[in-house]
Amino acid sequence: MKYDHDAIVIGGGPSGSTFARYCAAAGMDVLIIDKRKEIGIPVRCGEGLGTREVLAQGLELPKRCISAEITGAKVVAPSGKEIVWKDTQTTGWVLERKMFDKWLCELAVDKGVKVHTYTRATELVKEGGRIAGVKLSHGGKEPYEVRAPLVVSAEGMESLMARAAGFKTVHSLYDVDTCYQYEMKPYDHQNLIELYFGNEIAPRGYVWIFPKSDRKANVGIGIGGNYMNAKKGASGVDGADPKVYLEKFIASHPQLKDSSTLIDFGGVISVGAPMDEFVKDNFMVIGTAAKQVDPIHGGGIAIAMETAALAASTAIGAHKGKDFSRSALLPYETEWKATLGKKMAKRLMLRKVMEKLNDGDLDYIFNTITQKDLNDTMDGKFAAPVAKVVAGRPQLLKVLGALLS
Ligand SMILES: Cc1cc2nc3c(=O)[nH]c(=O)nc-3n(C[C@H](O)[C@H](O)[C@H](O)COP(=O)(O)OP(=O)(O)OC[C@H]3O[C@@H](n4cnc5c(N)ncnc54)[C@H](O)[C@@H]3O)c2cc1C
Repeated sequence: MKYDHDAIVIGGGPSGSTFARYCAAAGMDVLIIDKRKEIGIPVRCGEGLGTREVLAQGLELPKRCISAEITGAKVVAPSGKEIVWKDTQTTGWVLERKMFDKWLCELAVDKGVKVHTYTRATELVKEGGRIAGVKLSHGGKEPYEVRAPLVVSAEGMESLMARAAGFKTVHSLYDVDTCYQYEMKPYDHQNLIELYFGNEIAPRGYVWIFPKSDRKANVGIGIGGNYMNAKKGASGVDGADPKVYLEKFIASHPQLKDSSTLIDFGGVISVGAPMDEFVKDNFMVIGTAAKQVDPIHGGGIAIAMETAALAASTAIGAHKGKDFSRSALLPYETEWKATLGKKMAKRLMLRKVMEKLNDGDLDYIFNTITQKDLNDTMDGKFAAPVAKVVAGRPQLLKVLGALLS
């Protein structure tokens, strides 16, 4: 068969650009296509990212990608009590995501990847029953065929080509958070990530304030998608609208109530289990397209980058062996499930436990745990924090006990 490229990557977000960068560095001819006119724009993200995954890939973030450095967190319990955890070092960044995505994509170009923007994948090309490329449309014009032995869906939440390839990409409302966010100014902050919890504030979710440069902040909310069908939300009408909840929060916030909104957007993010499978013959799915998103906070940039590196190492092996069959691509899926998948399963369990807690329980927990307990919990080490909470409130064992199984 005659091919135009070794791999076609659909989507130039963090997963697609990272995957392409690794593959091109190993000598593969890779094409990234993205339907957006400009990589990284529009931004639909809180822009928070921990330092770990970026450093793990030997990358140094250029200043233009960083809006603010994060040195800790402020968690506000439903009672309004604030708990502040400060670190001595930078633990993460609030990005300028449009610069970040473009930078990641440029790194791929530097390794030899070809990128086409304003180009949408509309259909899979099949030959003898096997995927052999994609049909692309530039700027809505007549589709044309581009061929490769490997097609990679890094399409994010839309994942239409992954669906066309036979993957179960549809989400239930229970397994998504519906979100709304404003970029606001002025907001005087202390470089802390601020998280506000409570069923009246954000049912099965939270409000975030992520600090940005120049007295700005991303002020956003994510609430359980299943609350869309809830009776009498904060709006006083049936169905919970994240924008209504967010505006109620802002109106009651001493600083934000008088601030301006500079950017305004809504979005949906996966917070359920990942897809059951990530590979088929000649096809891989990576990042948010594969529902590889943290179920606790809906963060997907770090997982997308880590996953892309893993998937690329399998793709490079497949390219060397000239075999892109499902079994040749399977090591990515198997290794993901044994590593990142295990962590994600624990976080999903934590999410499901947390959503059973009422505001009184949350108040008690936030008053009881320390920063170390929080870090342990986020790392999936539940035993000590659960023991501490249950010692003071034994009735919580019924709910929290699930974390010890
Ligand atoms: C409101 C909100 C807040 C968030 N906040 C955070 C946060 O603070 N931190 C964090 O880590 N994560 C956050 N996330 C999640 C994060 O944005 C995603 O998990 C992350 O972008 C996933 O990267 P990706 O490369 O897999 O997909 P994406 O970044 O979504 O990239 C997919 C790309 O594919 C392109 N594409 C899709 N279909 C086609 C097609 N058919 N043809 C061509 N191109 C196509 C799209 O244009 C897009 O550029 C948030 C999400 C939402 C909705």
